[in-house]
Amino acid sequence: MKNHKQKTIKKADLPTKICVTCQRPFAWRKKWERDWEQVKYCSKACRRDN
Ligand SMILES: [Zn+2]
Repeated sequence: MKNHKQKTIKKADLPTKICVTCQRPFAWRKKWERDWEQVKYCSKACRRDN
């Protein structure tokens, strides 16, 4: 029998942070792979807002 859970993408394993502007959690994104340590905002809008 094949494992049906195989299709599940392990999104939960991605690191997350809290946006300093909206205080909401956001997950790691590919575009941040080089500077995840410096990321503070979930979006451009939040970055501009602050
Ligand atoms: Zn935000």
